[in-house]
Amino acid sequence: MNKVWIGTNWKMTKTIAEGIFYTEELKQLANELNPTIELFIIPSYTALVDIKKETVDSRIKLGAQNMHWEDAGAYTGEISPKMLAEIGLDLVELGHSERRQYYNENDEDINKKVLAALKYDMKPLVCIGENIEQKNNEISQEILAAQLKVCLKGLTEDQVKHVLIAYEPVWAIGENGIPADSEYVGEIHTFLRETLVDMFPKNGHEIPLLYGGSVNLENFLPYIDQKDVNGLFVGRTAWNMETFTVLLHELEKHLNN
Ligand code: PEP
Repeated sequence: MNKVWIGTNWKMTKTIAEGIFYTEELKQLANELNPTIELFIIPSYTALVDIKKETVDSRIKLGAQNMHWEDAGAYTGEISPKMLAEIGLDLVELGHSERRQYYNENDEDINKKVLAALKYDMKPLVCIGENIEQKNNEISQEILAAQLKVCLKGLTEDQVKHVLIAYEPVWAIGENGIPADSEYVGEIHTFLRETLVDMFPKNGHEIPLLYGGSVNLENFLPYIDQKDVNGLFVGRTAWNMETFTVLLHELEKHLNN
């Protein structure tokens, strides 16, 4: 796998105008980058149509932060896969730990969403991660294997080729997150790769495994150097175009060496 996936979920942080401004800057930067870097952004729903117009003639892939699994129905406040596909999205993020924590999403829900995204030719970006109690009880691997098994239940070898996984330990995410050691991330990613190959012997080795959780300018290179890390899912460091530009330029140099 020679691609390096680098993307960001903006969460609930940018207005439409702010999002367009950011995307215009990122488009210029993207032109200078090695084609092996697959860039993606995940704005809020309200900005997707406008930002699609910005990204349509660029290499930046566009995704949504969540969706329902049904095509249509009486689900006030929800957005369907059919609606997102109409915008022409490349991917949809599913199962972020904040969705699990605040909106009670579980692996069974995420599995329905994964199948629905695939039906509409959008790549599911499935987020998994253990919490601090699970880590301290040394059951991280069991938890992660269970999340993968349920979230990807019923997928065929052909379908799984379109899936991306983001490993985001809950204790490492956000303002109060503690950045993980790169060796720990490396071990977990190798375990995830082995689990995926057990589940999908033909294509399990092709599934991009992204790392996310307090990725910053100091730690991103040690993470990306881990054998089974195929990309980074970046929050706060990528919301600011200045720091994201430094990260992308340094990554570019690193990949060219
Ligand atoms: C996240 O919440 O998914 C995330 C990666 O955020 P941060 O990089 O800000 O920890």
